[in-house]
Amino acid sequence: MAYVYDEQNIFAKILRGEIPSNPVLETEHSLAFNDINPQAPVHVLVIPKGPYVCYDHFALEASDAEIVDFTRTVGRICKMLGVQADAAGDGCRLIANAGAHGVQEVPHLHVHILGGRMLGRMLAPAK
Ligand code: AMP
Repeated sequence: MAYVYDEQNIFAKILRGEIPSNPVLETEHSLAFNDINPQAPVHVLVIPKGPYVCYDHFALEASDAEIVDFTRTVGRICKMLGVQADAAGDGCRLIANAGAHGVQEVPHLHVHILGGRMLGRMLAPAK
């Protein structure tokens, strides 16, 4: 079954300039902006500019140029914000929720970059 992209999702509106965001970095194929409801001192969302629903959609169908740009943007943001896991940074967590079981709220691929505090174990028990 094909992925179905909703052009009216909120991140599509941000990309079209219809609603504002708090941008951190923009590249040819990607945009990074602060999450409106941060869960950690650093909480940035990185999205591709192309119409991809989720990570598996992007990984299967995006061009090599889009994938390289997106991946490098994630790395650049981690370095810029000091949450990289090298000797100079304390590390972070990247999350890409997908679909119903992943409890994805906005159906446009976004990688959450969370850091700036100890984040605890990866998964809480399902409620
Ligand atoms: P997810 O559950 O992975 O789909 O997460 C969606 C994320 O988008 C949440 O962390 C929201 O706080 C965030 N979000 C929703 N609307 C906006 C917005 N207009 N600007 C920035 N972040 C947003």
